[in-house]
Amino acid sequence: MTAGHDYTRWDVLDARYWWAAHHHAGQWSDEYRTIGRIEQMGYRPGRIARGPETDAARMIYADRCHAHGCTHEEETDNGR
Ligand SMILES: [Zn+2]
Repeated sequence: MTAGHDYTRWDVLDARYWWAAHHHAGQWSDEYRTIGRIEQMGYRPGRIARGPETDAARMIYADRCHAHGCTHEEETDNGR
């Protein structure tokens, strides 16, 4: 991630929510539990959202994919 990038807590939750939603390995995985925790923190995705909704969130999401060695680049707009 670029140092000093401007994003809010909600961008982070947005990114973490969708990253977990797209990458979890079943309902007993840590990522799946992350989704529940993020919802408890008050984040709810938009009803028609299929991925991170802000540029900042998309950037955080892409960084996570990069860190995990994902090869796909545009999974954010087709979900799974
Ligand atoms: Zn990925």
